[in-house]
Amino acid sequence: MRPIQMVDTHTQYHKIKSEVDKAVIEVMESSAFINGEPVRKFAANLSNYLGVKHSIPCGNGTDALQIAMMALGFQPGDEVITPSFTYIATTEVIALLKLTPVFVEVDPKTFCINPSEIEKAITPKTKAIVPVHLYGQAAPMEEIMEIARKHQLFVIEDNAQATGCDYFFKDGSKKKTGTIGHIGATSFYPSKNLGAFGDGGAIFTNDDDWAVKLRMIANHGQSKRYYHDVVGCNSRLDTIQAAILDIKLKHLDEYAAARRKAADHYDKAFAGNQKIRTPFRAPYTNHVFHQYTLILEGVDRDGLNKFLAERNIPSMIYYPVPGHRQKMFEHFNTASKEMPVTDWLTERVISLPIHTEMDEEQLNFIENNVLEFVNK
Ligand SMILES: *Cc1c(COP(=O)(O)O)cnc(C)c1O
Repeated sequence: MRPIQMVDTHTQYHKIKSEVDKAVIEVMESSAFINGEPVRKFAANLSNYLGVKHSIPCGNGTDALQIAMMALGFQPGDEVITPSFTYIATTEVIALLKLTPVFVEVDPKTFCINPSEIEKAITPKTKAIVPVHLYGQAAPMEEIMEIARKHQLFVIEDNAQATGCDYFFKDGSKKKTGTIGHIGATSFYPSKNLGAFGDGGAIFTNDDDWAVKLRMIANHGQSKRYYHDVVGCNSRLDTIQAAILDIKLKHLDEYAAARRKAADHYDKAFAGNQKIRTPFRAPYTNHVFHQYTLILEGVDRDGLNKFLAERNIPSMIYYPVPGHRQKMFEHFNTASKEMPVTDWLTERVISLPIHTEMDEEQLNFIENNVLEFVNK
């Protein structure tokens, strides 16, 4: 059996190696390492794939979120509503910009922000909602956009884990996640569904004015060369990364299908087990399975993690400490916040290996070992 990894970017690379190597060498030969033609080409192809007017490449997903919040002109002390149950990058940039993160609960079924909890958290200082499409499944955007309209709030989608995911609206139309809110942000970190061979990110919007602003902020607030109108930052996608991403974008739907196939295999193996809750699939979206995350009930979760590790099966806890319990947010008195759903999930979730290169033998081996421990 091939060794099992949480993600197998190496095998994936070897399937497209000749194309990728050629593209990388072309960039090296052109020596246009910054803002070379592949950056423009990839952004155009990505916009086309997502069905969004503007894709603005940047340095990473964290920058993408930060630049989005800078472009919308939030002021220190403004409140931004976000789930506590997410990766730290989502919430860290809020605090970095001297805004106040307001943590709300997620729906334990979808792991995404719970719309009815959003309404309760809105105050006169609230400026935005940042839903996270956690583990590769869309947050309930239709409800979130409705709340935002009602209260005149901005919505910035954290699409770092869900590139390629579709959202199906009640009227039968569909959109890609990251293009539904006012601004979307994503990451091309190597393990993400569309992963570079290094860092990368992008920002999305359908609004021409915001697009200008986002582009400017990502480039030192520059309107034309050496004229800097607003305070920005330096956040770029390397040409080499853009060239690689442009190749991988063509395979993205097939990658999502491979991840879903692995998820289906797991679902089938664990179906009916009283102690294992397999990922819920919300009817309004198609999960792209950035992670395959179980909820364990009445199982020693950390014991399972160790048991699997002894059999060379990696598993991960995403995330062991939710936002409202992070030390960096202590001064917001977040630790005193009652978040029973988030705490409950934090103690029970475990993510199994899932990627585009999993084979039957690996899946069976993982499943058998999980079941052996759980049914002990
Ligand atoms: C990965 C990730 C980010 C940050 O992306 P980077 O490219 O690593 O900066 C933000 N939010 C979520 C939910 C993520 O998973």
